[in-house]
Amino acid sequence: MANLKNLNELTKLSSEYKATLVAVSKTKPNSEILQVYSEGQRVFGENKVQELVTKFEELPKDIEWHMIGHLQRNKVKYIAPFVAMIHAVDSLRLAKEINKQAKQNNRVIPVLLQLHIADESSKFGFEFNDLESLLSQNELQSLDSIEIHGLMGMATFTDNTNQVKQEFQSLKRYFDTLKSNYFNDNKAFKEISMGMSGDYKIALEEGSTMIRVGSAIFGSR
Ligand SMILES: *Cc1c(COP(=O)(O)O)cnc(C)c1O
Repeated sequence: MANLKNLNELTKLSSEYKATLVAVSKTKPNSEILQVYSEGQRVFGENKVQELVTKFEELPKDIEWHMIGHLQRNKVKYIAPFVAMIHAVDSLRLAKEINKQAKQNNRVIPVLLQLHIADESSKFGFEFNDLESLLSQNELQSLDSIEIHGLMGMATFTDNTNQVKQEFQSLKRYFDTLKSNYFNDNKAFKEISMGMSGDYKIALEEGSTMIRVGSAIFGSR
């Protein structure tokens, strides 16, 4: 049973902040996704390719499916025909593969570049300097079958709200810097995907434009 009260509060809050609510439905059955869909929610996020493909095939075609988790290059081809946004692009090689598969499907795929902002030694996400150096060499902007819509980041998993806030602030600063240096005339570069069930309020206060919320809507996994 999805928590529709929480869903409706999240819908209201995200619209107050003009942010997009991505309902993270990983591990949850179609029946619960349809409950949330019936309330008007159309943007859903998944982090496993096979599950995403199956749900795309089985559920209504006006759902916008976001791939939010780490993506392996050899699996891009399965989601390229339909995915609405890929949140966690963390290498040039992955960006090139998405570009190639998008081209083969005659489409342009919206992507976000994942930055490593957490304190934890997570394996994923660009370091800011590495990303800046790729952008300064025009390596990512030159891929014409992906469209870079902004940045994505995950804060440290901690009760220390001050730390989480500082990490979100750093992502916002990185966004502003990259926007003015490389995407100034680019209207597509406008998204900051940050905030999950435990920290979406802080994220919205710090400038998130997309929150990815799972357990607060669907319950624990
Ligand atoms: C699972 C997941 C979320 C949602 O997490 P909750 O804490 O359940 O809201 C957000 N982003 C990513 C990348 C995830 O894998």
